[in-house]
Amino acid sequence: MSLYSELRSLDQIPLTRLKGVGAALAGKLEKLGLESLQDLLFHLPIRYQDRTRIKPIGELRPGDEVVIQGRVRNCDLVHGRRRSLRCQIQDDTGSVSLRFFHFSAAQKNNLKPGIEIRCFGEARVGSGGLEFYHPEYRQLSDEEASPVAQNLTPIYPATEGITQPRIRGLCEQALDMMERQGGLKDWLPEVLQRRHQLMGLNEAVRYLHRPPVEADVYQLSEERHPAQRRLAFEELLAHHLSLLRLRHQHQSQGAPALVVNMGSMAVDNAAVDRSASDSTKGPVPLVEQFLAQLSFQLTGAQKRVYAEVARDLSQPLPMLRLVQGDVGSGKTVIAALAALQAIDCGYQAAVMAPTEILAEQHFLNFTSWFEPLGLQVDWLAGKLKGKKRIMALERIAGGEAQVVVGTHALFQQDVKFSHLALVVVDEQHRFGVHQRLALREKGSQQGRLPHQLIMTATPIPRTLTMSAYADLDCSIIDELPAGRSPVNTALISDQRRQEVISRVRVACGEGRQAYWVCTLIDESEVLECQAAEATAEELTRMLPELRIGLVHGRLKAAEKAEIMAAFKAHQLDLLVATTVIEVGVDVPNASLMIIENPERLGLAQLHQLRGRVGRGMVASHCVLMYHAPLSQQGQERLRVMRETTDGFRIAEKDLEIRGPGEVLGTRQTGMMQFRVANLERDADLLTQVKAIAGQMDSAPENCDAIIRRWLGRGEQYGGV
Ligand code: ADP
Ligand code: MG
Repeated sequence: MSLYSELRSLDQIPLTRLKGVGAALAGKLEKLGLESLQDLLFHLPIRYQDRTRIKPIGELRPGDEVVIQGRVRNCDLVHGRRRSLRCQIQDDTGSVSLRFFHFSAAQKNNLKPGIEIRCFGEARVGSGGLEFYHPEYRQLSDEEASPVAQNLTPIYPATEGITQPRIRGLCEQALDMMERQGGLKDWLPEVLQRRHQLMGLNEAVRYLHRPPVEADVYQLSEERHPAQRRLAFEELLAHHLSLLRLRHQHQSQGAPALVVNMGSMAVDNAAVDRSASDSTKGPVPLVEQFLAQLSFQLTGAQKRVYAEVARDLSQPLPMLRLVQGDVGSGKTVIAALAALQAIDCGYQAAVMAPTEILAEQHFLNFTSWFEPLGLQVDWLAGKLKGKKRIMALERIAGGEAQVVVGTHALFQQDVKFSHLALVVVDEQHRFGVHQRLALREKGSQQGRLPHQLIMTATPIPRTLTMSAYADLDCSIIDELPAGRSPVNTALISDQRRQEVISRVRVACGEGRQAYWVCTLIDESEVLECQAAEATAEELTRMLPELRIGLVHGRLKAAEKAEIMAAFKAHQLDLLVATTVIEVGVDVPNASLMIIENPERLGLAQLHQLRGRVGRGMVASHCVLMYHAPLSQQGQERLRVMRETTDGFRIAEKDLEIRGPGEVLGTRQTGMMQFRVANLERDADLLTQVKAIAGQMDSAPENCDAIIRRWLGRGEQYGGV
């Protein structure tokens, strides 16, 4: 039995195999995500202490974290502001005090003058020169030439109920067992390790738990040591491989090739009315009809991106393309063009948005664009009930619905498409990685998957695209339609609320429109709506001459739509709103936005909100009305908003300040929670990760093993 388990691989040996680990401790360890021996080996120290040499007391400097050794000169109770025990010790070079505020009588009695002790702690400046507060210490017996530590001492991430010596002991045991078992299996082919100058896996693990005396502590503390980099590398590689695998599995299924015979000018508005002049070529493709009736020219970036999308759609492989474009860059048109390509080939397209209000906006857009072309646009959201819902479902299942716009309700069990060939997902990253995966399976018919077009207005920093979205192709709309004026952003304390209100009065008096955005309080939608209601009342009182509307998440869809429509038609001057207006609202005449308590929002969200203004010809303004005092981080973040309107720069900054989990909104899914890697710190590894992933094609079992090792229980990523 025991022999058998010795032979199991380290990831299958439970921690209860270690001495001293019973059910209770195992439970605590499990909370840390530590279940197997391998988990423990990858549980890396956060820093190290040097207990390998004894520092002469005379050489101590404030801040030194060191071992000292000496004889006790005296040990006294001190009755100062707080009672303490002070013990002076001395070696050949000088003397220093140890200070205890909590101590036992036994402790006091044991520290007798003349005994020799060794202690470890940090030297700090105290009332009587350098002192060690509550050092670890132990008495040395006269004969004993007690050895100092042979390696640097690892300090592990603090854990409730598990002391450092305890976890250190467990890691020691795990290392010993690892050695007995001949080490962890290193799945990175040796040639690749050599070519990319990577440290061996076992060497790295050993090094990090037991660094030698001469280790570069600075490099370790910066987490840039080759041993740390090797593990981070392998973890990033595991994620990358799992995404690539998803992509392969996806593409192995095939998709309808949406081939439309378009003229070479297809994407130029110039190509009009071919059917009249040349009937032999058949009907004019919908894409061309659409462009001919569109009131504007596509930007160069839109043309390029649609060309990329169109090429993907014409292939018998399911497209997986992420379109990134700043707010207002005109992503919706790209979605419309893709949908038309599908419809032209006799298929259906689905357009999904994360919120009802955004979905509605799309529905209105698509309806106004597609109805003139004689196409049937349908609507499906959670709130659509009863007969209307049944009829919509029938049209979707029967195929009459050519485009269906909605929320995630589109992908509920009872929604069956007749022949879906394209799924457009707007603002994708809010859906989270899991939903993205689930979506891929939806609409799969006879082993063929729909094409997927994912659109995000939150620019994603390159490091994240390379890691979190490695399974997607990427297009960037890096140009705004002409005639947009940049938004001026001001930071104003809410103590100047009156001034801000006057500003709204002036702007609206000049015929412009404004938004007043109330932000989330306490994560509660109800409270947020109440705040917006109160604000609307206040503003109505103070600005009686203005027509003021209120929109928030608790209104009925129809009410919301009505108010938005009124605002758009300039029947309202000022729109008080909760963050629901964040996406999708498009009113070019609105040139002023007040955001209350912007410090509560993420930068990406602020950027989204601000993108609602600056859509017309007049100069636009955004007032970030913060509640003083702002934290250091709060100031830094709002300053970024004032200084730039470049979504990519804002996203990079957001990533820097908040970390990838928050930026991606996938903190809960665990997707971006790395054990060792850190996307900002290790971003430079990603190019290499990509290269090696490409070179591991010939070793699929190794890929499997690496994915399993690092994503383990998150098997869903790799094993879908
Ligand atoms: P987003 O990328 O934020 O989703 P939209 O697709 O909503 O942007 O487009 C924003 C506004 O710009 C819409 O009113 C849209 O009709 C308009 N628009 C899109 N492309 C162009 C263009 N090439 N020229 C002028 N206006 C455009
Ligand atoms: Mg949009």
